[in-house]
Amino acid sequence: MSPNGPECTHLGTIEVLELPEAVDGCDDCLREGGVWLHLRICLECGHVGCCDDSPGRHASAHAGTASHPMIRSLEPGEDWCWCFVDELAMRIPQITGQTRIPPSPMLS
Ligand SMILES: [Zn+2]
Ligand SMILES: [Zn+2]
Ligand SMILES: [Zn+2]
Repeated sequence: MSPNGPECTHLGTIEVLELPEAVDGCDDCLREGGVWLHLRICLECGHVGCCDDSPGRHASAHAGTASHPMIRSLEPGEDWCWCFVDELAMRIPQITGQTRIPPSPMLS
């Protein structure tokens, strides 16, 4: 991030500093019988939602309804976080762990 660029002011909302060992999929898709493409985790409450390329777009929906601004990708090899309010991507090295996720039901 450029020192003069926009800064995210929501880092204080982050409660999840250690990622879960494994998740079963998007919380909302699992409940509704939907399918997801990529998984994101809410860094305030640990809700697992699906990306905007998934039919349910549950990560964005959760950010809106719960007013939880920050997510991190749970995809293998991805460590970026995203703030929905500032629309900023960033890396947050304080967040540790690697989550085992099942293959996307849209790709199988
Ligand atoms: Zn922010
Ligand atoms: Zn979903
Ligand atoms: Zn949340």
